[in-house]
Amino acid sequence: MPTIKLYDEDAYMKEFTATVVSIEKNDKGQAGIVLDRTAFFPEAGGQSADVGELGDFKVVDVQINGAGVITHFCVPKNAPADGGQGSGAQGSLSDSFSPENGTALPAVGEAVRGAIDWERRHTLMQHHTGEHLFSGIVHRDFGYDNVGFHLSDHICTMDYNGTLSEADVARIETECNEWIYKNAVISCDYPDDAALAGLDYRCKGELVPPIRIVTIAGADVCACCAPHVHTTGEIGTLKVLEAKSYKGGIRLTIVCGRKAFADYRNRFRLLAEASHLLSSHYENLPERILRLQDEKYALKAKISSLQEERLRQLIANATGEDSLFFVEDVDTKSIRSAVNALMDTHSGLCGIFCGNDPDGYSFILGSAVRNMQDTASLLRQELKAKCGGSEKMIQGQVHTKREAIERLLAEASAFST
Ligand SMILES: [Zn+2]
Repeated sequence: MPTIKLYDEDAYMKEFTATVVSIEKNDKGQAGIVLDRTAFFPEAGGQSADVGELGDFKVVDVQINGAGVITHFCVPKNAPADGGQGSGAQGSLSDSFSPENGTALPAVGEAVRGAIDWERRHTLMQHHTGEHLFSGIVHRDFGYDNVGFHLSDHICTMDYNGTLSEADVARIETECNEWIYKNAVISCDYPDDAALAGLDYRCKGELVPPIRIVTIAGADVCACCAPHVHTTGEIGTLKVLEAKSYKGGIRLTIVCGRKAFADYRNRFRLLAEASHLLSSHYENLPERILRLQDEKYALKAKISSLQEERLRQLIANATGEDSLFFVEDVDTKSIRSAVNALMDTHSGLCGIFCGNDPDGYSFILGSAVRNMQDTASLLRQELKAKCGGSEKMIQGQVHTKREAIERLLAEASAFST
């Protein structure tokens, strides 16, 4: 016998009583309870299942099979949502549901009280009706279908089999909100075959009768099994958060109702925080950030030129056979020409390490008389450097302390002389 769908008759039913038809425990540590009737909407049409309470249990999932039988997957109220799997603390299935810990399962034929998590369900309804509104306008104006719909606690996405420009999306979004202000009535019914034959409605794939038609007066007609809000005003607001190319069409992420308000509040808080940090009105933030970026680039360029100047002075004053320098913020081209200049005037090991101890160093080392491949091997072996090059010059990176580099190269020089 198919389960009687109370949510179908009344999408606003929050609590109900029903009779237990069967109970079967599954391998997830959950009890699968079938009732004669239910207000719990099962996972269907891209929308996630309702959650809530059934007697002394938490309903964590609801599924419908091909015969229309709806199963409520339940765990004891104190159990984690996964039914105790993985935690190891819940014990065996029989321990989880036992009269001793007050979580005995109801008997077949017993009456139980169900209560759905109403705020969550209503939020899903706001989004689902919002999706119909948006998809109806897309279909009317472009002929595209919503070929993929995902609605859960976290996200609401719809995939259209055609692309929309940014301006199209903005215009449809505005029209959706106009429909919300109009507070148009939404009805859900099962038209007879004759009425259905004369009806122009949207649908996704093959439909199994009886076919339920959801109508947003003046805006959309669509076959759908899910609960919807009474009037478009209840959607509250609809905002597109993201649009991206997807499988040759477009995937849109939308937010409606109380979630849209929460999102607005969060964005407002972030903007206020950024405004405070940059001492700037939020409308001036992009301009302020651009100015800060420009200032940062100018400072970086200034530091670079000062470092290059310092490097030139170091080279000019270098004495001794070996000449090694440690610098910061100098580009590779300047370092290479500095090493070349050092090699012209010094017969020993010439090199420049650019960086610092926490971030590591990039380096170029050269010598007119020594084989630099040997030095490269030494650096790789002793300091795990990544480097390579010719017999005259090597280049690479090393993540170690300056002191370790200096010690190793001093030892190598002593050995080679
Ligand atoms: Zn639908």
